[in-house]
Amino acid sequence: MSDDCLFCSFVSGDPQPDVVHETESTLAFRDINPQAPTHVLVVPKQHHANVADLSANAPNTLLALFDAIREVADAEGLGDRFRLVFNTGSEAGQSVFHVHAHVLGGRSMGWPPG
Ligand code: 5GP
Ligand code: ZN
Repeated sequence: MSDDCLFCSFVSGDPQPDVVHETESTLAFRDINPQAPTHVLVVPKQHHANVADLSANAPNTLLALFDAIREVADAEGLGDRFRLVFNTGSEAGQSVFHVHAHVLGGRSMGWPPG
C-alpha cells in the first residue's frame, strides 16, 4: 500500500471501483473513462509503479496478472480479440503510477496508437 495512490485505495475498497474480477493478488475494474466498449484495468494488489518495476521485483505477481488478464478477456467475451496496453512513464501516457493493464476490446482499432 502506497499513500496517495488511487489504485491502492481501490484495492483496500475505499472507494470501491466497478470490480469485474478479483484474485488473491489482482483486482480488475472498469475504467471510468472507457476508450472502447470494453475497457477494464487489471492491477496487482501490491503497489509497483509500472510494469518494469513489477517484472523486476515481483515476477510471480506479473504471471498472476497475466492469468487475470486472460480470465477477464474470457469473461468479457473478448476471446482473442483485444488490445493490452501498459502505459509506462508520463511521456507514454501513464497518469496513475500503480501498474495497470488496460484491456480494450469490442471495436476494431487502428495502428500505430496516438
Ligand atoms: P494511464 O493513463 O495511467 O495509463 O491510465 C489510467 C487510467 O485510469 C485512465 O484510463 C483513467 O481513465 C483511469 N482512471 C482514472 N481515475 C479513475 C477512477 O477514479 N476510477 C476508475 N475506474 N478509473 C480511473
Ligand atoms: Zn498503489
